[in-house]
Amino acid sequence: MSTSTKPTGLSAKEVANAGIAHIVLGTKAADASQKRIINSGEDWDLNQLVPFKHLFAWEKYLDACKNHWMPNEIDMTKDINLWRSDDGLTAQEKRIIEMSLGFFATADSLVANNLVLAIYKHITSPECRQYLLRQAFEEALHTHSYQHIVQSLGLDEKRIFNMYREVPSVAAKANWALPFTRSLADKNFSTGTQADNQRFLRDLIVFYLIFEGIFFYVGFVQILSMGRRNKMTGTSEQFQYILRDESMHLNFGIDMINQLIIENPEVWTQAFQDEVRSLIRQGVELEYQYAEDTIEDGILGLNRQMFREYLEIIANRRLAQIGLDPEFPNHVNPFPWMSEVMDLRKEKNFFETRVTEYQTGGALSWDDE
Ligand code: FE
Repeated sequence: MSTSTKPTGLSAKEVANAGIAHIVLGTKAADASQKRIINSGEDWDLNQLVPFKHLFAWEKYLDACKNHWMPNEIDMTKDINLWRSDDGLTAQEKRIIEMSLGFFATADSLVANNLVLAIYKHITSPECRQYLLRQAFEEALHTHSYQHIVQSLGLDEKRIFNMYREVPSVAAKANWALPFTRSLADKNFSTGTQADNQRFLRDLIVFYLIFEGIFFYVGFVQILSMGRRNKMTGTSEQFQYILRDESMHLNFGIDMINQLIIENPEVWTQAFQDEVRSLIRQGVELEYQYAEDTIEDGILGLNRQMFREYLEIIANRRLAQIGLDPEFPNHVNPFPWMSEVMDLRKEKNFFETRVTEYQTGGALSWDDE
């Protein structure tokens, strides 16, 4: 009987990245300094979580586990009654709810598929993979949450879940992001060269900084504004938990991106930085078009200029988070309450509804949004 050291049909790198290399008895444990975000190669066995190198990932994994929640634990009775009552919500308010559900219902699946099918296999830090597994579950919880809201309100689920193929401003955001995940799902793609490492980094930046870091924020502001006005408080509470998770995904992504750049400084060329700035400008424009399409001036105390300024503030912050200079003028944040919403420990009675305290120990710290 022969013992192959390498499964056939896979390169040595693919075998290492899958953690299925033949086990050679007597192999000594490697040093954690061998671990890299990408391209650890055969220097580190990906089945060995410890000793740690990328501690930020492990710490975020622990924080995320402290904040576990389930969509069906949130009482939707008030929302159902408000939605059904003849004078409960204006047509414009109903449109905001449906558009948000229409975007998010498929957006979180898109993020999850990108994580699992395009990103995970190229990440060679076991502690980052540990966080990615948790993040993937949270994306599933978020999709569950939208399904739960749609079902509770008795909305047409086929129409809501198909909106990203029917509503232009919703389709535009998903369509813009898709090519970045497609390139990595290509089975011939592998990191290693400067160009391929940049291609991978570009996908991380598009999904973490722009998709999760910009494209989610108009919808969050709109739904949470309703909660602040004591409307659709169950839906707002769901979005509050989702926003808290998303804020963690974003901060993990920023740490992983910055560590990848530290380990591979040759990727961070001036031309690449210019391209990132251009992608972020495009992201702001698409999200602003979504804001214009979803909101009439004056509703819920919101107007389009506020969204323009808020998106520019967020975009400048995303740039700063990866060490780049601001692209837009300074504005006074029109939604200072957004940073408070993200911290449930501070704002337990924000919507004057029951908010279960899931935090079981330790303190979370959040970047201001
Ligand atoms: Fe996410």
